[in-house]
Amino acid sequence: MAKHDFDAVVVGSGPNGLSAAITLQRAGLSVLLLEGKSSIGGGMRSAELTLPGFVHDICSAVHPMAAGSPFFQALPLHDHGLEYIYPAASAAHPFNDGTAAVLRGSVEETAHLLGSDENAYASLMTPLVKTWKDIATDVLGPLHFPAHPIEMARFGWPALSSALRLAKRFRTKGARGLWSGMAAHSLQPLTNLSTSAIGLVLMTMSHLQGWPVVKGGTQKIADALAAYFISLGGKVETNVYVSSLAQLPSSPALLLDVTPRQLLQIAGHKFSALYKWQLQKYRYGAGVFKVDWALDAPIPFAAEACATAGTVHLGNTLEEIAYAEGLTAKGGHPDQPFVLLAQPSLFDPSRAPQGRHTAWAYCHVPNGSAVDMTEAIEKQVERFAPGFRERILARHTMNTAQVEDYNPNYIGGDINGGVIDIRQLFTRPALRSSPYRTSAKGIYICSSSTPPGGGVHGMCGYHAARRALKDVFHLLPLSL
Ligand SMILES: Cc1cc2nc3c(=O)[nH]c(=O)nc-3n(C[C@H](O)[C@H](O)[C@H](O)COP(=O)(O)OP(=O)(O)OC[C@H]3O[C@@H](n4cnc5c(N)ncnc54)[C@H](O)[C@@H]3O)c2cc1C
Repeated sequence: MAKHDFDAVVVGSGPNGLSAAITLQRAGLSVLLLEGKSSIGGGMRSAELTLPGFVHDICSAVHPMAAGSPFFQALPLHDHGLEYIYPAASAAHPFNDGTAAVLRGSVEETAHLLGSDENAYASLMTPLVKTWKDIATDVLGPLHFPAHPIEMARFGWPALSSALRLAKRFRTKGARGLWSGMAAHSLQPLTNLSTSAIGLVLMTMSHLQGWPVVKGGTQKIADALAAYFISLGGKVETNVYVSSLAQLPSSPALLLDVTPRQLLQIAGHKFSALYKWQLQKYRYGAGVFKVDWALDAPIPFAAEACATAGTVHLGNTLEEIAYAEGLTAKGGHPDQPFVLLAQPSLFDPSRAPQGRHTAWAYCHVPNGSAVDMTEAIEKQVERFAPGFRERILARHTMNTAQVEDYNPNYIGGDINGGVIDIRQLFTRPALRSSPYRTSAKGIYICSSSTPPGGGVHGMCGYHAARRALKDVFHLLPLSL
């Protein structure tokens, strides 16, 4: 092989860029990781967004996917400062009447709290929890013949159905509401096929290890991944925004933690007409409007169980949540949006000055929306936590343009790097023998625009790097 500056260059330091860089460096290659912003981390950064001493997670805050990631689990991240904190309950889902459904650690406990839906919940979740370890790398990877086809079919059958169809298993307000909040993480109308997949994965993660927050803030995941990469001999440079291949040092392999739109800008001239056309047809999904608060006390939720949960889903019934998500998909802005809220300082006192608290929330909005949803989000919190507004010391908000400005991968505010629907679930960003390989030799895409999609888990980066190791370096890295 001709002499190059590096064996591989990775552009973008989100969880997937960092995971790709680590996988390549662990295989003995020399790797340079470039980041356009002044600090590493992509969707894993934390900062004092409101007042001094209040540490907010700018993007991701709750980490079932990171704690459950087969790739992250294989790394010594604890040795590099990563510590998860597990709230007693993963999520709470309050209702108008002051009660709440709760996603707990075990299937039995969660099912028991669902009254007459106890058996329906247990019969749905028990088989998935039992077989997850056999199917995890198949579910969290590209489309291929699974190692455990029967177990995979047992997951795939309910996962491919729409959330509303799967909800027919449940009769109680509690189970139906809890389920719709889980499925609404899909950022799609709950009538869409495969909107059950993310809900099932998130509930499985709760029953296997929980939904942790990170001690000190999500930034610590980025810092631990970067510290481990550097300890292996990897190099990191920040403030290098890549808009052209000409900016890059020479390397036989280039992995880009970017979405198809940037991929086309950077390397489009190298691609076949077919691949370019496929990337141009790639679809981005709904965006988010995000609020962070500094509070002088915990959020006063009416339902006591909310104080035990790191995440609280605000949307009341399945019908209300389905309406809000459906309206958003049609370009509307619901008066009562489905709000995903996290309260990390309840479990991690290092996030705020003594006695004070932080809270994090977002709702879904149409891609590119300029509407300020602060009032609608705060009204929704107040609805389930009367007196909330009086607790606010300061707030920081981001609309879709600000989210994209903060991170160029969040096109129009889409935090998943493109719609994760049935058509883009396994074939993102394009239908190819390997979704990570572009049509240009040595150039790979490794962001959440590849399988398995959004979330902090690093599995896209891991799979893309494995592809590059096989194609370019003829190395066969060990499986997880
Ligand atoms: C408000 C919000 C809340 C979220 N909540 C959660 C959550 O609680 N749990 C969870 O698991 N996930 C959550 N996510 C989603 C999660 O953050 C993303 O899915 C994940 O970060 C995607 O990882 P990635 O590596 O593909 O890309 P990113 O994390 O987006 O990283 C891409 C990096 O590449 C850099 N980059 C892009 N283009 C270039 C270029 N041309 N040159 C140089 N650098 C470039 C960017 O600056 C960025 O640092 C949330 C996201 C947001 C915005």
